[in-house]
Amino acid sequence: MMEGVDANIPIPSNPEAREQQGLRVNFVISNRELAILSMDPNRISSQDQGEDIAAFQNFARRASERCYGYTAITLSEEQFFALGGTKEEEETFLSQMQQSNEFREIRQQTEEYLEIVKAQWQKNYPQTFQTIQEITGLDLNKEVTVNIIHPSLNTGQYRRNNTVRWGHHEEWNNYSTVYLWHEILHSYLDYTDLSHAIIQLVTDNELRVRLNNRETYPPFVGHKNLIPLMHKLLPHWHAYLVNVPEDGKRDIFAFEKRLQAMPEFQEK
Ligand SMILES: [Zn+2]
Repeated sequence: MMEGVDANIPIPSNPEAREQQGLRVNFVISNRELAILSMDPNRISSQDQGEDIAAFQNFARRASERCYGYTAITLSEEQFFALGGTKEEEETFLSQMQQSNEFREIRQQTEEYLEIVKAQWQKNYPQTFQTIQEITGLDLNKEVTVNIIHPSLNTGQYRRNNTVRWGHHEEWNNYSTVYLWHEILHSYLDYTDLSHAIIQLVTDNELRVRLNNRETYPPFVGHKNLIPLMHKLLPHWHAYLVNVPEDGKRDIFAFEKRLQAMPEFQEK
């Protein structure tokens, strides 16, 4: 976290309090989570060394067809046990997989990817922290853990307890920064279509165009099923961005509440 970068963010006098200000993001890799997700045939993409994920999956399948099937969720728990599988066998399999050369390759690539994402996040942090705070009025002073997985797995998820899972092909400039903020906002707003559409307006679109000059919206970026709702929200969103309250603090929760009271935004 960079200190004193932005004059608008009040800087507490004692260094310790200063250290605690803002969003503290820890980038980590869980070998177990990485091994399990790398076995999922539905997550794999051809991009970003996807062939190494495929090599790992083939190795795992050869090692134990039933344990691989159980881990990759191509076999149900009942089918796994019916085939004579046991929980101990699965645990042994998982630790063997994490010791393999095929996995070591994936781990190495994931470490390199972590450094790229972390550097991008930290470079953009002063601007994006201020932008998200200014747009939402949220108290962003907390700790978040980002579990980095291989970029070929195209996965972004908020996992409860201020933990995000992230590993995705960089589809445009600052992609990881924008979607890390997207997932972090899921720790504040819930998963209704309205909340999700608001998160996509704040991050996938407004934050993106502030980071990537010359980009505009609409056309919208985000989950396709929410785009009709985002078009309906657009005039309200523009008014929210323009009409800054007297105390200079916007309130994204109050904005959502106002929308929820409107018949056209009530969930059917
Ligand atoms: Zn989301």
